[in-house]
Amino acid sequence: MKEKITPHLQRKIRDGSNAIASQFQVQSTLGDNVTPNDPLGEETLFSPAKGIVHKYPNRVLWKTTYHCAAHCQFCTRIRQIGSPDGDLEDADIISALCYIQSHPEIDDVILSGGDPLVVPQTSMRIIAGLRNIPSVRVVRIGTRLPIHSPKSIGSPQVKMVFRELQACADNFQTYVLVHVNHPDELDYEVVDAIRTICAHSFPILSQTVFLKNVNDKEDVLEELFKKLYYMGVVPYYIYRCDYVKGLEQFVCDIVREREIMTTLHKRMSGIALPQYIIDVEGVGKIPVPLGFWDVPDITRCRDYQDKIVQL
Ligand code: SF4
Repeated sequence: MKEKITPHLQRKIRDGSNAIASQFQVQSTLGDNVTPNDPLGEETLFSPAKGIVHKYPNRVLWKTTYHCAAHCQFCTRIRQIGSPDGDLEDADIISALCYIQSHPEIDDVILSGGDPLVVPQTSMRIIAGLRNIPSVRVVRIGTRLPIHSPKSIGSPQVKMVFRELQACADNFQTYVLVHVNHPDELDYEVVDAIRTICAHSFPILSQTVFLKNVNDKEDVLEELFKKLYYMGVVPYYIYRCDYVKGLEQFVCDIVREREIMTTLHKRMSGIALPQYIIDVEGVGKIPVPLGFWDVPDITRCRDYQDKIVQL
């Protein structure tokens, strides 16, 4: 994936943050001839309309764009990020809305991407359409813009999206999901950006990815989750990094991940602790049992339909 780094992140790299450099600078070890795969089978298995991923009965993920303010080099969707192929025309939006409307079991829509806040006009059209679908009770908006470019959160276009979501308060509940991986990402500008979102009265939750040599240490994650908790952001998920061809250097050892999360459960308040999750191709999200129980084989588990899965 092409390197794309905002001035905000550049400054942090210049100030010596290795955690930011490792996430955003292109690693010379990556082979140019590697074609990244679709590790979760999003397009191949679960996409009934352009942009829509429908894996679990009651919720859909809606990829509003393939663009982001900066490119995270570990991204699960590295195959798509930065491409105009994910741009949605009005006809695409209408057909995705029709799909959701014709599936009244869908009550929860996750706007993702790319980053929905870098395409405010598209997001506004989608939100306005979702407002007219009575079965939709929750809209979650996943973003990394506060980390990539905190000042953009105060831009008139982004404010417009938040105001539109506020105007839908009688139709559905909005949650904002911020992707954040390391305490270095939470400087005072980012904290201000998150406070700006809080001022719109949406609950804010965080999502984190385990990244080798970035955050695979107890102290680093403890600091991250505590900083989030102190500012009113509830740590929601920490994911095992998906296996994407060419990006194996970001994937941590699963035994070590479980050890870290077990230690953190002993040290921290429950509300400050995210759920540790593996997203398995063709299966979905599975919570990983921590070291409090005698689980003989951590490479075998059950999915949400109770089927056995070999990791
Ligand atoms: S912001 Fe999210 S979608 Fe965009 S490059 Fe980073 S991880 Fe991927």
